Amino acid sequence: MRQKKFILPDSEIPRNWFNIQAVMPNKPLPILHPGTHQPLKAEDLYPIFCEECSRQELDTTNEWIPIPEEVREQYAAYRCTPLVRAYALEEALGTPAHIYFKNESVSPAGSHKLNSALAQAYYAKKQGVTNITTETGAGQWGGALSYAAKKFGIECAVYMVKASYNQKPYRRSIMQTFGAAITPSPSMSTRAGKDLLTINPNDQGSLGSAISEAIELAVSTPNCKYTLGSVLNHVCLHQTVIGLEAEKQMEMTGEYPDIVIACFGGGSNFSGLAFPFMRHNIQEGKKTRFIAAEPSSCPKLTRGKFEYDFGDEAGLTPLLPMFTVGHTFKPATIHAGGLRYHGAGVILSQLMKDGLMEAQDFDQTDTFKAGVLFAQCEGIIPAPESCHAIACTVKEALKCKETGEKKTILFNLSGHGFVDMSAYDQYLSGEMRNYNLSDEELAKYISSADALNK
Ligand SMILES: *Cc1c(COP(=O)(O)O)cnc(C)c1O
Repeated sequence: MRQKKFILPDSEIPRNWFNIQAVMPNKPLPILHPGTHQPLKAEDLYPIFCEECSRQELDTTNEWIPIPEEVREQYAAYRCTPLVRAYALEEALGTPAHIYFKNESVSPAGSHKLNSALAQAYYAKKQGVTNITTETGAGQWGGALSYAAKKFGIECAVYMVKASYNQKPYRRSIMQTFGAAITPSPSMSTRAGKDLLTINPNDQGSLGSAISEAIELAVSTPNCKYTLGSVLNHVCLHQTVIGLEAEKQMEMTGEYPDIVIACFGGGSNFSGLAFPFMRHNIQEGKKTRFIAAEPSSCPKLTRGKFEYDFGDEAGLTPLLPMFTVGHTFKPATIHAGGLRYHGAGVILSQLMKDGLMEAQDFDQTDTFKAGVLFAQCEGIIPAPESCHAIACTVKEALKCKETGEKKTILFNLSGHGFVDMSAYDQYLSGEMRNYNLSDEELAKYISSADALNK
């Protein structure tokens, strides 16, 4: 029988995270203080984030960062995750390519996000922090953080965009089941929320309003810290367990990936799978291609601009050097909520600028078409975000069919779509639509970032 799953024992759970900043040919440009425009120091982040995460954020020298034993023990609930050969998908496509995927959907939270949530909750606990807070839109990050906080015995308060709070009751109940307190945002519990509700009592909220409320709670409450589930360097760092395991599992297959693919929101699951392989391109001249798959309705890598921009809509964060479509960008409400962020992480943006990775964009209906094919072949219903990686994999595998090239493709299945079945309903009933973004419209949003670079 052909070997389908490549499994590593618990003892192979990585002992270190890989910090690509230490080996990048060009280090990322500095993150700037929004007031002084001076490069940020780790201490500047301490009021908001845990100290260890703040230090990891700016660490450009240590290539390997030890994973605390307590975090490894929690990883053991679902890691090492399986690497799977997608034979049925290959056959359905009639491609000579070999397709593998790393299955991060097996985590208790249903996605890769737990890899960083556990690390962030642990460092908070270790520092004596008793409460952590965050915002969530679609609810993936909130779900992961709720579980991680419970595991380390700290309280978790999540501000959930009011529209999602009402539209996605199951995500809310997942967080509540894991023991977190969920507040629809905007709320009367913060100054920022009160201000918004005074202007409009029916405000349905946005990620921007939820971020403002969570940060306000963190800086105004003793022993409370804020956490973020993507974009930041320390989040990308924590995700490298994905690629480090995949590297060993690819060895078991006797193959090495020619193409590595992941979907791209802020870049954390892409970083996680890609960075450990990318170090061989940087250090040993390997020629693997790394492709980020983004939605055509939020095209920061394929059509955005590299410049300093705020990380949030309200303009409260430090200035980040990144590929962005502008912090005022209002993405269409596609089902891949995790991919609607306006910018790319700082490290990823530099790698993109230096040609170490590439990007492709996909229309929503094409991603669901690929997702349905994958579900029927491999038996896993993918998250709408992950459908982008699958659409990209299908495209590259069909190219191989044309040219007869027997490439090895590895993609990340970042999560499952069991709580997103209403999106599948919409696709299957033919009611799903795509959103085209004109150059004029895009230029208008990008100019909100241009103004900061004068
Ligand atoms: C949040 C999320 C993403 C996008 O975030 P990245 O930081 O770019 O990885 C992708 N897939 C799933 C399942 C998610 O929950």
